[in-house]
Formats: sequence, C-alpha cells, structure tokens
Amino acid sequence: MPIATDRISDERPGAPHFTATHKQRLRRKLFAWYARNARDLPWRRSRDPYRVWISEVMLQQTQVATVRDYFTRFINALPTVQSLAAADEQQVLRLWEGLGYYRRARQLHAAAKKVVAELEGEFPRSVEELRQLPGIGRYTAGAIASIAFDQRAPILEANTVRLFSRLIAYRSDPLSTAGQRVLWQAAEDILPQKNIAQFNQALMELGSLVCTPSEPKCNDCPLTGVCAAFTAGLQTEIPRPKQKRQYTKVREAAICVRRNGRVLMRQCGANERWAGLWDFPRFEIDAEGPLFAQKEIATKLRKQTGIACGDPTLITSIRHGVTRYRITLDFFQAPYVAGRIPSTDQQGIRWVPTAELPDLPLSTTGRKLAQQIGASTTQTRFVSRGG
Ligand code: SF4
Repeated sequence: MPIATDRISDERPGAPHFTATHKQRLRRKLFAWYARNARDLPWRRSRDPYRVWISEVMLQQTQVATVRDYFTRFINALPTVQSLAAADEQQVLRLWEGLGYYRRARQLHAAAKKVVAELEGEFPRSVEELRQLPGIGRYTAGAIASIAFDQRAPILEANTVRLFSRLIAYRSDPLSTAGQRVLWQAAEDILPQKNIAQFNQALMELGSLVCTPSEPKCNDCPLTGVCAAFTAGLQTEIPRPKQKRQYTKVREAAICVRRNGRVLMRQCGANERWAGLWDFPRFEIDAEGPLFAQKEIATKLRKQTGIACGDPTLITSIRHGVTRYRITLDFFQAPYVAGRIPSTDQQGIRWVPTAELPDLPLSTTGRKLAQQIGASTTQTRFVSRGG
C-alpha cells in the first residue's frame, strides 16, 4: 500500500505520521527482517542493563566495528557496575583510550558510583529515573529502559534520525529543535505495545545496515511500502545535508624531555581537551617551521613545567583533527638541562619512567608519540579518533 504523498510534507509537531495500517505493516515487516538479519554483537548476548548502558554510550559517535573490541575489553576488565564504581579513573580512561570524547568515560564512572552508592547497585527502570544519572540523556535512557527492561520508551539516535526522516519524508533540519520534536514524536507513535527491545534494536539495525547515509539500499529494504521518501523518490535528498563545517588550522608542538630513563609528562586539567589523560608537554606555537620554533618551545616548556631543556630536535610531524581544528603537531625531543617541577604543581607534572607509559591513559596522538620514542604499548589496537 503506497503511502499518501499529501502526508510527506506535513512537518508540524504533533501531526500524525503513520496511519494504524502503516504502523502494523511497518512493525510486521521490521520484526521479520530483524529476525533474519540481526548481527551477533557482543552486547546483544545479554540484557544486563550495565552492558546495554556501556555499549550504548560507546556507540555514540563511534562505529560498531570499533566498539566491538572496546566493549569486550571494557567488560572483561570491569564486568559489573560495582567494579566500574570501584575502579580508578585512570583505569577507566585507559580502557577508553582511542575512543575519544573522554567526557563519556568520566560520566560513566560518575554514574556507576551513583548507582552503587545511592541505588544499591540496581539500575532504575524508567526513563525519568535513568535520566537523573550523569551523562544519561533521553536517548541513552530510552535505550536502557527499552532494551534491558522492555519499557515502552522511544529512541532517537543517528541511525534512527535518518530512518525516521526518510520514513516520514521530513525535509527540514532533523537536528533542529523543531526537527527533534517531530522525530521524537514519530519514534513514539511507531512503538508497538510489546517486544520493545527487539523493535528498537531492529530500527537501529535497519538504519545502520540498509537505510545508510549516502546510498540507502532501498532494494533490500522491507519498508519501501511505508516509506514516504522512497515513494517520492527523495531518499538521497533526505535528511537534508549538514552545513559544511569551517575548519581552523592550528600548529602545535609536543616535546619529549628525558632524564635518567624517565620522560616529562603532564596530566591534563579538568577544563582541557583531554581532561584526566596524560600528555607530553604540548602547546600551540606561532613560529613558522620547526627550526624557528625551537626557542619558542623551550620558553613555553619552561613556563608550563619549570623545566629548561637543550635545543629541541624534530622527531616527527603528525596531522590530525579534533572537532573543528585541523592540527599540525610537531614532535620534538630535547635533553634535560635544569629546573625542578614546582612543589606547588597543580597540573600533575611528573617524571614518568618510560616503562610505565603503556599504563598511562594518553590521547591517541600522545600514544603515537610514545610509540615514536620507543615506549611499547600493551594495547595497540587503537583508532584515530578525538586526537
Ligand atoms: Fe530507507 Fe530506502 Fe528503506 Fe526508505 S525505503 S527506509 S529510504 S532504505
């Protein structure tokens, strides 16, 4: 039954998007498709709310293929909410290293402590109560409530934003306030009365495998008959493309200063890009080219750490991106000459034995630099995300 085209441009919040017949048909087709196509993913083998929560937080901004290994490693190290609550923050960050968006890891840790200290280690079952926990927004709460507890809670994340936008042919910006209202309403409207866990996972799976961003595989899709974008031939124009981001170029330098088998490291402060992680002394530089940068680096190193070094020599240059910045990072080494870390140091500056670098949580570029100076790593399967 083709969808009525007079419905496809109705973008008013509160407007009905699906008739009862469409909903029935959509659910039936989706369940049947999911039964045949669901991937065997490690977090789907249990409905333990802790595992659902960890996987959903990891999957925000990160591909399934990357999350598989991180999830398994995280759960092996910290299998319960109690073990996460009791873990040292450095261990949590080390397990998260390479996933980027480290605030997620710190909030997981804070939420686990709250569940253990205030809720006797039991996850709340309702969306409203789940949203009281640090870092748990409407989507994550809906995912935990529906997948772990089969609560009738809608979900809306990257895959389902795209899928719903196409199903209802929503042509405005789906991430605007109005767009979010319309899509959350569609997500709620479409929910069946039971089997919510399966239904929500099936929606995300279809969005991820079939209703893909640039070339949706409509020929393989079970929902063509209820998809307004497909009916109107708009599937490649919806959702509306995001505005191109303006990037800012930045030059940075990092430096390895060695002293008696140890290297100078600093822990990033609470307001910094990689709060809680460790890094080589690193700063923005103005000088053009590594040769001209030597003096500037030595001066900034002294200011940042209290340590004076000899002439820095370039080891390598790395280009990477963090949010809207495109960064050229020059990595230097220099001998220690003089100076002491101030005893009043609040920044966590330390001389770290090279052999201990593999245990410290570092940014992705920090890990690459550590490998450059021969500090082997115990965990080498990292992706380049979040710098
Ligand atoms: Fe997406 Fe095409 Fe399926 Fe519509 S028919 S939901 S555009 S894959």
